[in-house]
Amino acid sequence: MNSSVLSPAQLERTDGWGQVAKALNYVYRPTTVAGIQRVLKLARETGRSVGLRGGGISYGDASINAENILLDLSRMTRILDWNPDTGIIDVEAGVTMRDLWRYIVGDGWWPSVVPGTMFGTIGGSLAMNVHGKNHWNAGTLGDYTLEFDAVLPNGDVITCMPDETPDLFHSIISGFGMFAIITRAKLQMKRIESGRLRTTSRSADNLQSLLALMDEHKDQSDYLVGWVDCFAKGKKLGRGQVDASNALTQAEDPRAEQTLRLAFQDVPDTIAGIIPKSILWRFARYATNNFGIRWLNFAKFRAGKLQHGNRNLNSYAAANFMLDYVPHWKKAYLPGGLLQHQCFLPFETAELAIRKMLQLCQRRGYPSYLGVIKRHPADDKFLMAYSLDGYSLAMDFRVTKRNKAALQQLMYDLDEIVIDAGGRFYLAKDAHLYPVALAQSLGAARMERLAALKHEYDPNNLLQTNLSRRLQIDQLTTS
Ligand SMILES: Cc1cc2nc3c(=O)[nH]c(=O)nc-3n(C[C@H](O)[C@H](O)[C@H](O)COP(=O)(O)OP(=O)(O)OC[C@H]3O[C@@H](n4cnc5c(N)ncnc54)[C@H](O)[C@@H]3O)c2cc1C
Repeated sequence: MNSSVLSPAQLERTDGWGQVAKALNYVYRPTTVAGIQRVLKLARETGRSVGLRGGGISYGDASINAENILLDLSRMTRILDWNPDTGIIDVEAGVTMRDLWRYIVGDGWWPSVVPGTMFGTIGGSLAMNVHGKNHWNAGTLGDYTLEFDAVLPNGDVITCMPDETPDLFHSIISGFGMFAIITRAKLQMKRIESGRLRTTSRSADNLQSLLALMDEHKDQSDYLVGWVDCFAKGKKLGRGQVDASNALTQAEDPRAEQTLRLAFQDVPDTIAGIIPKSILWRFARYATNNFGIRWLNFAKFRAGKLQHGNRNLNSYAAANFMLDYVPHWKKAYLPGGLLQHQCFLPFETAELAIRKMLQLCQRRGYPSYLGVIKRHPADDKFLMAYSLDGYSLAMDFRVTKRNKAALQQLMYDLDEIVIDAGGRFYLAKDAHLYPVALAQSLGAARMERLAALKHEYDPNNLLQTNLSRRLQIDQLTTS
């Protein structure tokens, strides 16, 4: 690597998962800490900033850094240590959730927290502090992190632990790559006796009953997720389905040993052993419009009603990574891509706010194509906490040349409803939030801490992304 010039050969176009945010960046993919330190030195010498990227599956602009350096950690994929007696694993930052569960499941362990897709890396997942369908009862990935190593912008390597370095530990985790580069993490996995979960699906005729179902079943469930038909109106507004899943014990599963095998967990890549799933998105493209999705939602709701109360056995992988079932499904949203709006709302205001959001989207002619509701716990101790004791609503919108401006305005108007309801946002999904909205939702104390830590650990604003510039993180001042 030439120490003072950026080679045009490093220029690559990268995008956010939603395919809306795109950038040309100088991409470097080191495999060692020394390699990371060399990239930081190069950035200082060439006056460029450094953005971090793991799997690149944040929806918006969190892992792109236009015309600057993008440090891609996805080649740091070694599993450094695994203890099948304690369930403690030590991994490099580029190990993905997929690598992780596939490595441990045969020993009767599963990651304590997994998000809705398996393609994120541990580094990127810690930087956003991801949650799963068990958030309200299990917390976030950061809660199962025993220690991690990180490289500071000045090149120093530090080890962080929750009790010994609490400030850095709780800020680098959740800190969206603004303070340090995570290179290694030691995580606690959870014991499982069978590779299967029992899922009970319940249909809800409207939003009120959907939220009530989630609350009614949360104390007896290990995982919980709600699906909303965002096209339904009037008395049916917010209708949908709640899936509640529980781990099977060894005694409950006569095939426990087989179900812990990879062959059982791996999601098949064909339908009925014939049709490759990888081509499905091509057909899905023709249905990805208001007409097609309205009918798909209707059909899903009707099918759910017929199956109300049914119990199904699913593998852990199938239950946790439903969205990975159709490979490349996001391509159905091309050429414009998709925007997701995800907000977290307190219990008391959630129902009214969700009602207003669904109605607003319908009035503007942009009902969400996918609506997902989850249950979450109260505020946590991580710096960029997004959780509140209540619900989150995630909605996906198809972007086209014609609707781009109108959708942008819709996002801002949805944000206003969220802020009025005392809600919060999650940067992993964000592509539009503006600085004032972040400050209003995060609160003054956390914004002050964010500014102070940025000044202390990255005084020259070496670590930046398109997201951080949009949110003006480099301009934050301390009082
Ligand atoms: C279909 C789908 C479903 C999802 N479901 C969920 C869900 O249920 N729950 C949930 O919480 N999230 C969910 N997500 C979001 C996803 O889990 C997060 O965006 C996660 O951060 C992705 O990991 P990544 O490795 O791709 O990170 P990237 O997107 O590459 O990066 C994320 C952030 O981390 C920073 N970063 C990357 N690597 C490092 C590092 N080594 N050190 C420090 N900072 C770093 C980047 O600068 C960026 O700000 C979902 C995403 C998709 C596409």
